Amino acid sequence: MSVQQEAGTGGEALEVWIDQDLCTGDGICAQYAPEVFELDIDGLAYVKSTAEELQQAPGATVPVPLPLLTDVVDSARECPGECIHVRRVSDRVEVYGPDAG
Ligand code: SF4
Repeated sequence: MSVQQEAGTGGEALEVWIDQDLCTGDGICAQYAPEVFELDIDGLAYVKSTAEELQQAPGATVPVPLPLLTDVVDSARECPGECIHVRRVSDRVEVYGPDAG
């Protein structure tokens, strides 16, 4: 079963954000999905857009590219700070992460 089927997201657009207040700076997310996550010089992880720009506003989101969904979900599952949140764009319901149902 694919990650998508498991979550029942049905190919809906997803976005991801990081709560930097809880980030431990271990860099696991940046190893799993370097296209989406990056550590900044402050030692914390941030999401970045396809234009490679780090989004540093609190709660900033970027779209999750479908080919990277598994890597992003694995990052959220393994994140020691439990601070990676993946949610549906349409209703902002978290589908992976500490607040997922
Ligand atoms: S995996 Fe989680 S705690 Fe670790 S750097 Fe990424 S966001 Fe921070």
